[in-house]
Parts: sequence; structure tokens; C-alpha cells
Amino acid sequence: MKVTFLGTGTSQGIPVIGSRHPVCLSSNPKDKRLRVSVLVEWENYSYVIDCGPDFRQQMLRAKCTKIDGILFTHEHADHVMGLDDIRPFFFRQGNIDIYGHKRVIQALERTFSYIFETENKYPGAPSVNEQYIDGSPFKIGGLEVIPINGLHNQLQVYGFRFDRFAYLTDMKTVEDSEIKKLQHLDVLVVNALREEPHISHFNLEEALNFIDKVKPKKAFLTHISHHMGFHDEVQQKLPQNVYLAYDNLQITI
Ligand SMILES: [Zn+2]
Repeated sequence: MKVTFLGTGTSQGIPVIGSRHPVCLSSNPKDKRLRVSVLVEWENYSYVIDCGPDFRQQMLRAKCTKIDGILFTHEHADHVMGLDDIRPFFFRQGNIDIYGHKRVIQALERTFSYIFETENKYPGAPSVNEQYIDGSPFKIGGLEVIPINGLHNQLQVYGFRFDRFAYLTDMKTVEDSEIKKLQHLDVLVVNALREEPHISHFNLEEALNFIDKVKPKKAFLTHISHHMGFHDEVQQKLPQNVYLAYDNLQITI
């Protein structure tokens, strides 16, 4: 399985528009972060988790020519606003499978009503197959996916476990019963916003405590704010086998 980090930034991305913060002005490519998403590939399958406003740029950058589906963690704008740009995939492949909590799919139906239109649909609009996730494991591309339930402040969010890889973003609270589903991971990806606490995201300390509980072989941090600091400086402070993810990073599991 190959995982490509398409974006590793928090909701505004890095640089933030108009910001004079030193991290936003950094020339290090590792300090430039699009909105969070990963491309997960195995055999001939490719799935993306979330489809934020940078989706088009991310698909071009990753030279992705086919997607088998999109898994949504939750309905916030930084995770869904690229859905219109599935058009090139739809034109070549037909309906694109989208997976999410019923509430998330309903939010997409409101935001992108023309995509879900059944009568007099605009000919250029893409179409999707809606697949609801209810918390039980489901299969895509011959592989079992285990949803991991968490809270983003008060909002329910899903993370996903694929075999020995798990991807969790926008988590603030994860119950022990869900943490049990994360045993024996080779790679855990988890969100860490910055050092300061935040109402709906793990800060660095909370993310490291979470990693300590899950005990994966390796962990990567994502959904990073410019307030976290420069990639190279933060990386030096992290424990062994914990890495700050960066855009375009590829890992094999
Ligand atoms: Zn987010």
C-alpha cells in the first residue's frame, strides 16, 4: 500500500493569504501545506480521503489519473469543497463512489445540490454513488476499512483504518473503545494543530499522548497550522518514530 500526503495543512493552508508570519514566508517546500487529504493506493485501486478546496491542484500534482472513490471524514469546508473537480474522473469513469456518514452525505447534497439532481440535470455536472458509513467495517477494493469514531469538538468525525495503516484527522476526543481498533499499526497518521490547545483539534501534546496510547510503529502528524513552527525545527523536537508529515511525502506500508 502506498500513501501520498496530498495536503497536510489546517483549514486555511500554509501560507495563509496575506500573512507575514515567518512560517508563511518560509521558502522551504516542507512549510507549504495544502488542505488535508491523502491518496491511498494498493493493487490497481486509488482512493482519496477528503476532497478539499485544493483537490484539483492535488490531483494534478500527484499525477492521479483515476480514483475509485472518496472517503469523507466530516463535512467541514476544508474537507469537501473540491467535490466539483471530480468532473474529469466522472467523464472518464462514470459515477464516483463517495463514502461518508449519512449526515455528511446530506451536507454534500445541500452544498452541491446540482451533483445530486435527478431531474433536468445540467449535462456537465458530475454524478456520484452515495455510500453511507454507519460505523461498521466496509469493503473497498477487496480491502476491509474500519471506521474510527471521534469527536471534533461536538461534531462526529470518522478516521479510517486500512489493514496496518490508519488515518485520523480533526480529532479532539477518541474513546478507548475506538483506540482498541488501532492496535498493531505500522503507520498511524493523526492531526496535531499547534502547541497551544484548541477546542476542536489535538494540539501537539495531545497528539503525542494519543500516539503513546496507540503505539504504532511509526506516526505522522498532519492538519498543521503555521503556529506549529518551521517543519525542520519541529521535527527535531519530536520523539523517535514520530514525524511531521509534509505535502508530497509518500510512504509505503
Ligand atoms: Zn479540517
